[in-house]
Amino acid sequence: MPELQLAPYAVSNSAYGRRFSEPAPSGRSEFQRDRDRIIHSGAFRRLEYKTQVFVNHEGDLFRTRLTHSIEVAQIGRSIARRLALNEDLVEAISLAHDLGHTPFGHAGQEALNACMKDYGGFEHNLQSLRVVDVLEERYAAFDGLNLCFETREGILKHCSLEDAAQLGAVGERFLQNRRPSLEAQIANLADEIAYNNHDVDDGLRSGLITLEQLSSVRLVARHLDEVRSLYPNLAERRVVHETVRHMIGTLVTDLIAQTEHNIRTHAPQSVDDVRAVPPLVAFSAEMHELNRELKAFLRTHLYRHYRVMRMSAKSQRIIGDLFKAFMEDPRLLPPQFMPQETNTSRLVADYIAGMTDRYAVREHRRLFAVDED
Ligand code: MG
Repeated sequence: MPELQLAPYAVSNSAYGRRFSEPAPSGRSEFQRDRDRIIHSGAFRRLEYKTQVFVNHEGDLFRTRLTHSIEVAQIGRSIARRLALNEDLVEAISLAHDLGHTPFGHAGQEALNACMKDYGGFEHNLQSLRVVDVLEERYAAFDGLNLCFETREGILKHCSLEDAAQLGAVGERFLQNRRPSLEAQIANLADEIAYNNHDVDDGLRSGLITLEQLSSVRLVARHLDEVRSLYPNLAERRVVHETVRHMIGTLVTDLIAQTEHNIRTHAPQSVDDVRAVPPLVAFSAEMHELNRELKAFLRTHLYRHYRVMRMSAKSQRIIGDLFKAFMEDPRLLPPQFMPQETNTSRLVADYIAGMTDRYAVREHRRLFAVDED
């Protein structure tokens, strides 16, 4: 297939480069190299055993952070290709966007942030950047993965002004109220399309939510009715898959149409123009509202389901216990872990954030159960 011609406002190559200069890659683009570095990182492999919504041991078919990230990359790349934007950059950002997540999903992030409140807090976006900038130890010449600026700015989806001021070039856009590239904007919304839809699928599979409840959500009802009238005798499992598939299609199509419209309206001629105008990658107003309704449903009926809440409470206790134990006696930390970090609370947060769900459970047992070592 011939190379697609990129739009003039696409990121065609890294304008701001890497923090440590390296020879240009041969046979692949700079962003392909970033993607490859991310895939070979330890943090990427750990995503396989980190919770998205369901804790890893709850079942083999639920999404994990790894399969979630791959779905985000798939959706993001299709959108980028349709808009003549840089697919490789979208893929790199998508695969890296959750590298800084703690074990146990949002419950873990909240618990660690609470533990860190007197020490500068903990935020998974900042941590994802810290993983690729500092924590990965894979190269002789530098800490981290030395990714391109454009990949790093996409990973840093949001950040407080206080944190932005500490981050140098990659934080500047928050201080100047400028936007990241369209590729970063796509990865951000592909994330949202992926999790809303796979949480519907996983929620149904788990039995915590039902199709009947979901028919109160307009976006679901519309596609469910369509699937049922096209295939009146279809087994429930396939009804779910067809419905989710159609929903993803509708959201992606709407996003592309609205984004094309926004691009026509603002007529950017370059990436710099993109940075100066409001976000261009967006759903239509109607789809934004339908999407919001779906998110609200998931929040009430799935993320706050008592069984999810129980698992969250357990996870938060584990994180809190681990943090307290290591802070009280840092000698309990494995000696090979990050000896160069001198700030104990940050060292402990990095250690805990890097854990998979099951590693955290085991480490908790090792620290607190007398008959374990
Ligand atoms: Mg995500």
